[in-house]
Order: sequence, then structure tokens, then C-alpha cells
Amino acid sequence: MVNKKYIYDFSEGDAGMKMLLGGKGANLAQMWKIGLPVPPGFIITTEACKSYWEEGADLLDQIWDGVIAAVGRVEENTGKQFGGTDNPLLVSVRSGAPVSMPGMMDTILNLGLNDETVGALAKASGDVRFAYDSYRRFIQMFSDVVLEVSVDLFEEKLAELREELGVKFDHQIPADSLKKLVGDYLAIVEGAGKTFPMNPTDQLRLAIDAVFRSWNTPRANTYRKIHGISGDLGTAVNVVAMVFGNLGDDCCTGVCFTRSPSNGENALYGEFLVNAQGEDVVAGIRTPRPIAEMKDAMPGVYGEFARIAELLEKHYKDMQDIEFTVERGKLYILQTRNGKRTAAASVKVAMDMLREGLIDERTVVTRVAPEQVEQLLHPQIDPTAKYDILAKGLAASPGAAVGRVVFDADDAVSMAKDGTPIILVRPETTPDDIHGLYAAKGVLTCHGGMTSHAAVVARGMGKPCVSGVESIKIDVAAGKFVVDGTAVRKGDYISLDGTFGNVILGKLALVEPTFSDDFKAILDMADKVAAMGVWANADTPLDARTAREFGARGIGLCRTEHMFMATDRLPSMQQMVIASTKEQRVEALSRLESMQRDDFIGIFEAMDGLPVTIRLLDPPLHEFLPKIPEFEKELSTLDPNSPQAESIRATMARAVELHEANPMLGFRGCRLGMVFPEIYEMQIRAIITAACEVTHKGVNAIPEIMMPLVGTREEMKRLREMTDGIASEIIKNEKVELHYQVGTMIELPRAALVADEIAEFAEFFSFGTNDLTQTTFGYSRDDAENKFLGVYVDNGILPKNPFEELDRDGVGGLMKIAAEKGRSVRNEISLGICGEHGGNPSSVAFCHALGLNYVSCSPFRVPVARLSAAHAALGLLE
Ligand code: PEP
Ligand code: MG
Repeated sequence: MVNKKYIYDFSEGDAGMKMLLGGKGANLAQMWKIGLPVPPGFIITTEACKSYWEEGADLLDQIWDGVIAAVGRVEENTGKQFGGTDNPLLVSVRSGAPVSMPGMMDTILNLGLNDETVGALAKASGDVRFAYDSYRRFIQMFSDVVLEVSVDLFEEKLAELREELGVKFDHQIPADSLKKLVGDYLAIVEGAGKTFPMNPTDQLRLAIDAVFRSWNTPRANTYRKIHGISGDLGTAVNVVAMVFGNLGDDCCTGVCFTRSPSNGENALYGEFLVNAQGEDVVAGIRTPRPIAEMKDAMPGVYGEFARIAELLEKHYKDMQDIEFTVERGKLYILQTRNGKRTAAASVKVAMDMLREGLIDERTVVTRVAPEQVEQLLHPQIDPTAKYDILAKGLAASPGAAVGRVVFDADDAVSMAKDGTPIILVRPETTPDDIHGLYAAKGVLTCHGGMTSHAAVVARGMGKPCVSGVESIKIDVAAGKFVVDGTAVRKGDYISLDGTFGNVILGKLALVEPTFSDDFKAILDMADKVAAMGVWANADTPLDARTAREFGARGIGLCRTEHMFMATDRLPSMQQMVIASTKEQRVEALSRLESMQRDDFIGIFEAMDGLPVTIRLLDPPLHEFLPKIPEFEKELSTLDPNSPQAESIRATMARAVELHEANPMLGFRGCRLGMVFPEIYEMQIRAIITAACEVTHKGVNAIPEIMMPLVGTREEMKRLREMTDGIASEIIKNEKVELHYQVGTMIELPRAALVADEIAEFAEFFSFGTNDLTQTTFGYSRDDAENKFLGVYVDNGILPKNPFEELDRDGVGGLMKIAAEKGRSVRNEISLGICGEHGGNPSSVAFCHALGLNYVSCSPFRVPVARLSAAHAALGLLE
């Protein structure tokens, strides 16, 4: 006997019960509660699914009486009988987890039909064709998802029949042929060694069992893994009385967003199909009509729908994605949920709703996911480009992409491996193509509308998609598509414009997008919520200005070596590197000093009033010299006795001397400043002199001088003394009020472990998690990702690439030790991060938990980090 309540009628639930009733069920119950036209039904809870997996199929025995009783109540509500030979009740069975999960079994429609009830349905509806059409759909769906008979077998049969009859669409197939098709379908099931259950109660039980089973399929597990969804949630099962959108021309079915999911415009945005069932809209077999046309086709129903759409949006205070069906002029709402949308739409909808007084600022911040922000920074086709449009389709997901045409998801994955940009071209996509969509830059389909699988998934991924390009004829087997006589073959380049629905032959130039005022406003609201600041890694005045435009509140890392790589500086830098005496080195350095000072002046000016963290020279010196084969190549073109050849041989000899077996663990970082103090002395002089100079001009310079790769107390002590010695003298001479700080990167495990000793001399720490990941794991940051990390992640040896997402246990553990030890001797020590992880949402959330003062990342990731910091503070990102 079961004590727990596992079954809820719609009248017993509400939207707050998502964990128990699943998203779909809780919303159906809520709509029932507020009096909307929802067909009667009930929900088997997620708890039942969990017990099913714990106790096995027995659970169904335990709850079965309850299911039958609930069906009885639906019978009462509808006045129909389940399995009845007079007025049969048909139901849909749908899964519905607490979070949306496309990896699971979705829907079985028309359950309850068999050789007898089909006749009763024909009689009750007065439409024999409709009854057999419903039956053949049911057999196919049930056999596919419950009995696991390949759907292709049914589709082939159907295609044969269309050909035989000489018709293009399924709805042109007459009743008699459908009746025969039902027989053929049942024979297919039998031929596959399966038994199709004729008893409706058996059908229902098997379907519920299939929903529970679908929770643990490899596809669902993969989806959960990719999206970080817990495997413990379970799915609910929704059993709902069927209503029919395919009973004639006063019937339709459709899906509609209350605002545009593409750009957020406040107008109904959807599609409907007259005389059709729900699957026809999303399957993309017939291209649906825009919802606006429903106004003329069914004016009364359209008015009611528009009223309900507004009511639902006000009720949920968010844009809704609604499924509906009209049966003989009567509207039914079958589902509502918060609509998935592009980043641009998220921004516009949230800001419009703020202006409409529907939501407050904090809610606005929650409405844009950090992962979506990338999309706002998506490329578009260069507006000055001239081109002919090869074909036009629906603007299903915005942004532009250029790539090579591929017709198959597996091919897309293998061709994209070496970085080749891919455009996946399919008649339509299904969840089985998901890996191809991940690998591709953009998607093109010839069937399906804005709500087709390809469109929805591409929008979610922020990739451009053009769907419903009906003029394209795809021949997957031949590896080509043809449009107006032009053949485009596998491997050819095309450009896609998902914002306008255009397909263009060849490669077009793309441009980076701009930053809208609405989005800027949301980021300002995010800053008010966030506990951490967001700074940027910027090496030039231009980078600094970009960073500031994106809202960076400081520079967390200025890598000075990048300045030395510039063509006008490299020769002096090379002379410094090859110098064999201190005098020669000092001479080369003095030439670099004025250039370096000018760089810093530009950056201080750009960052007036904000901290600028400048890191002294870090890379191994040989990085500034050509590689040995390059020397050899140059020598081969010269007279060996010429002075030029002599000089090249000398430089080459120095390059050989500087060669190290493990340069990343070698003579780099502050070790350079220990051995050749004149290098660091020059840089410190340049920084402080530049800061004094701009201070004289009224600029508020806030220099923070940062030492790389410090591992011991003694290194930090000497570097601090060196800096203070030089700085105090310049500041005294310049007679300015200048505050500067001296600190260090924490990028070696030893530095983290002795952070208290280092903090005696360091006023700030910045976690260099690129090197810290390298040195903690012992993985070369230059090689690991190409050599073995892919295999590690694919095989689950590591959950994620640790150079992308911070390894919380290992690298994060060291950061925690360092933060605690640093604070133990210097309570107010400023803590930040400047490794690549500073722009990764999950890693930002970890930094928030550690109580860091700021994260620093590349300028283009600043908006992502600002939103991540706010979401972490709101507990939305952990
Ligand atoms: C780091 O190591 O994390 C860092 C920011 O420095 P770099 O990448 O320049 O070594
Ligand atoms: Mg480093």
C-alpha cells in the first residue's frame, strides 16, 4: 500500500509545486486554478518516478488503483469513457520534469484508440478519416517511444502510400487508405516482434512506464550532464484528455510566444496550422502560418487567445510560450511556460517589463543569463558587404555565421575538430542531431518554422539559424543541395544571416555587434547587486578604453611583455635579451624605458581614477628571439663571412644558451627580476614616472605593481624593497601625491601554501589561475588541451577542462588556503583573479564564494563577468 500521495488532479496543484508536479504539470494546474480552458487531467508526481527507480516496476502496481480512479474523474469531467465504444475518451501522456529536458520522452497522443474505439471515435466525431488518421498516428508514436520500433518503418510506409495515391500531403490521404495503413502499421509492429496492446488500460500503463524509463536513457543523462541538472529530480507524468485540432477547418493547433523570442518585441509571436495536431507544428512537415493570420481566419478565438496570453503573462510576470488547440471553435490551452529567448530578447523583454511596472530591477538582473551574454556580442554580416541572396527562409535565431556545408551531424563533428567552421544543413533536425548543432557555427533547414527543433535549439545555443527555406532541395545521400539550379556541395562555403533569414553563397565578412543602452542599464543594475567588482586584462590604451566601455572598474592585469612584442620595440628587446654584459643590457633597457613610460601614460589616462595593475616581465626571455630554424634560414641567404652573418650567429648562440627543457617552469617570472634586477628596475621607474607625469596633469593614477610567479617570502621581500626604494625617490623628486601598491600573483602551489609569509610584503594577491592550474595539475598549459585533455573530458576522467572552468577542489582549494593565510596577516588584503577563469560564470561564482574583491578578464568578457557576479550574489549561480 502507498501512503504517499502520488497522483494529483489539476484542481489540486499550482505553479509553486514544480518540484513535485514538474514544470508542465504545475503550470497546467495553475491555469486550471485561474479558470482558463484547460482540458481535464491529472499528474503522477516526480516522487513516483523516484520510487519507480528505487523500487522497480512494482510501484506501478501500488499506484494503479489511484490511476484508474483519476481516469474515472477525467471521464466524469468530459462525459466520455476510456475504452468506451460509444464516446471514447482519448488521453495524451507526456513527461514533465521540474526543469525543461528535451532529452526525455515527450508525448504520446490519442492513447485509448484500438480497433474498436476507432470506430466509436469515427461515429462520435462524424469523421471516419479523422478517426483513422488519429489511430495511425497513435500506433506510430506508441510503437516508437514505448515499443521501440523504428519510426522510419512507418514513415517509409506512409511515403509509399502518398506516392501510390499521387498526393503531396498526409491530409490528402482518404479514409479508406488510412484504414488500410492502420493494418500495415500493426503488421510492422508485429514484424518487429512486438505486440501492440489493444486494451487502453494496458496502453496507459505501458506509456507511464515508458515516461519513467525515459528519465534514465543515455540521451537524457547526457543532456543533464551538459546542463548540470541533477539526476535526482525525476519526471512527472501528465495524463490529459485529448482535444483535437484536426477535426476540420474550424480547428487548429499552434504555439505562440507572448512576445518575440527573437528580438523581444511586445507582440504575439507564433504559428498555427488549421486542421492539424500539435506535432505537425513542431515537426516541420507542413510550414505553419503566422499567428497574426489567425485574426482573419478565426477572429473570435483569436480575441480570446490574445486575452488569455496577456493574462498569463501578467500572472507569471514573464514572457510565456503557450501551446493551444482549437477544437470546433473552442479554444484550449495545453501548456504554458516561460519562453526561451535570445539574449537580445531577454534584454528587451526584461527592460520593457520594468518600464511596464511588472518587475523590479533585481528581477531584471535575473532575467539575462550570463551564458546568454555572448550572444549580444555576436557577429553580424558586415553592413557594407555586397551580396546576392541565394535563398530566403525564416529568421529563426539571430547572428551571422560563415562555414562549410555539411549534411550530417556526425560529419559536422568530425569536420569541426580541426577548427573548420561548419554550417549544418538538414531537411529538419531532431534531438539526435544535437551533437552536430553543438559543433556547427550555424544551422539551415528547409522545413519547419520558428518553433521547430532546429530553431529552438539554435536560439538556446546562441547560434544563427535559418529555417523553413523551402526553395532548397536537399539530397543528403548525394551530399548537395540545389536551389534555382545552383548546386551547393558538401564542403562549399555559405554564409547565414539568422537575423534576416538569408542564405548567401560563399564567405561574407562579419562584424562584431555593439552594446545596446538597455543592456548597459541591466549591467549597471547587476553591479548594484554584485559583491565583487569586475576588472579587465588590458595591455594597451585601446584595450583599456574598450574595457572601460564594457564597464570594467579597473585593470587587473597589464602584461608588459605584450608591449615589447610590438615591431618598433622588438629589436631593442632582442638586444636586451642577447646582451652579454650588464652595461649592454642597461643600454638596451634605457631605449625601452621611454617607450614603456609612454605606454603607461596612455593606460593611466584611459583609466583615470581606477586602479591599474601592471605586471612586471614574466615570460622566458627566449620567447623574444626567433626560433633556431629561422636563424638558420636567414643565415643560408647570407655570405658566411659578412658582419651580418656574424651578428646572427652571435644571437643564435645566445638563443641556444637560453634554451630550456621546461621553459614554463624555468627562468621566467620574478626569477628574471632576481637575476637581472635592472629589467625590473627599469619597469618600476617607467610605471612610477608615468604615474607622476599624469598626476601633474590632473589625472588620478592608481598604479598597482604586480610580481609574477613569486614562490617564496624572500623573493617578495626583495621585490617590495626594490619597488619602494625606486618609487619613493621618484615621488619625492616629482613632489606629487601618489599612492601605489605592491603585490603579487599567486600562481604556484607553494605561493598559496606560504601566502601568510608572502602577505607580509604583498599588499594584494591576484590569482593567476592559468599557471596555478598548470602547476597544480602538472599539466602543461601549452600542450595538455591538444594532447590528452579532450580524451580526459570525453571519458569522464575529468568533468571539465580545468583551463576553462576552475577546478574547485584542487586549484580552488589552494586559492582558499591562500586567501585565508593572506587575510590572517593582512586583514584588508585585496584579493582578485586574473587567469582566464575570471570570465567563466561558474568560476566567477566560486570567486564570489571565496569573497574575492574582484575578477579580471578580457574586455569582451567583462559583461559576462558582471552579470555572473550579480547572479552569484543572488544565489542563482553556484
Ligand atoms: C595566469 O597565469 O593565470 C596569468 C594570468 O598569467 P599568464 O597567463 O600571463 O601567465
Ligand atoms: Mg601566469
